[in-house]
Amino acid sequence: MTAASTAIVPYVERADALSIGGFTPYSGVDWPGKLVATVFAQGCPWQCTYCHNPALQDSRTTPAVAWADVRDRLRARRDLLDGVVFSGGEPTRQPALIGAAREVRELGFGVGLHTAGAYPGRLAAVLPLVDWVGIDIKATPETYAAVTGSEVAGDRAWLSLELVRDSGVDYEVRLTVDPTVHTREGIHDAVARIIRLSGRAPVLQEARPQGTNADYAAKLAGRGMYDVIGVDDLPDLTRR
Ligand code: SF4
Repeated sequence: MTAASTAIVPYVERADALSIGGFTPYSGVDWPGKLVATVFAQGCPWQCTYCHNPALQDSRTTPAVAWADVRDRLRARRDLLDGVVFSGGEPTRQPALIGAAREVRELGFGVGLHTAGAYPGRLAAVLPLVDWVGIDIKATPETYAAVTGSEVAGDRAWLSLELVRDSGVDYEVRLTVDPTVHTREGIHDAVARIIRLSGRAPVLQEARPQGTNADYAAKLAGRGMYDVIGVDDLPDLTRR
C-alpha cells in the first residue's frame, strides 16, 4: 500500500460532505463552449449588492441535494456531458470541493469552477484539479466593500486572480457593472488593472434585477450597464 492510499481524509474534505444548494443537469452557458452539469455549492461569506442567488449565501441552510445523488446522475450522463461546473454561492468555501472535483475527474469529466476568489488558499489547493475557471473581479481592491459588504474581499479576490493567472489553467475574468455602486472611472480603473495583472480583458456583465433582493431591484430602478459606461467605451470588451 502506498502512503497516499492509507491516508485518512477528514470528513469535511470528502465529496459527500459538500453542501449543495442546487443542481442543473444540463447547461450550455456555465462553461463557454461546453455542455455541462452545474453544482451550486451552498454558502458564501459575502453579500454582493446584485447577488442573483441570495438563497445560497447562508451556509447553515439544509442542503437541497446530496452528493450521492449528483454522483449517480453524472454517471448516467457520462456520454452526454463535457464537464461539471462548481458554482455557488462560493464553492471554495467548502473543503469538500477538493474531494468532489477529484471524483468528477475520476468519472472522466472536465472540471469547471466559478469563484469570486474569497478563499485564496483553498483555491490554490483545488486549481490542480480544475480545467477552466470563471473568476469574478467586482471592483478595484479599494472599493470592493461597497459591492460585497466585506472589508477583506478586495485583497482576497485580487490575490485569487494572481493565483489563477499563475496556475496555467484556462480562465475568464468577469466584471459585473453595478449602476448602484460603480462609476465610469471606477470601471475603467478596474478594467485597466485587470488587464495589467492578468493580460486579459474582462467580460463585462450586466447587473440584472431578476433573482436579487427587492431592495436592490428597487434601487437599480431599471438602470443598466449603459448608464455607467457609454456605448463607445471599452469597445474591445465582450459584454453580456
Ligand atoms: S460572491 Fe457571488 S454568491 Fe457570493 S454574494 Fe457575491 S454574487 Fe452572491
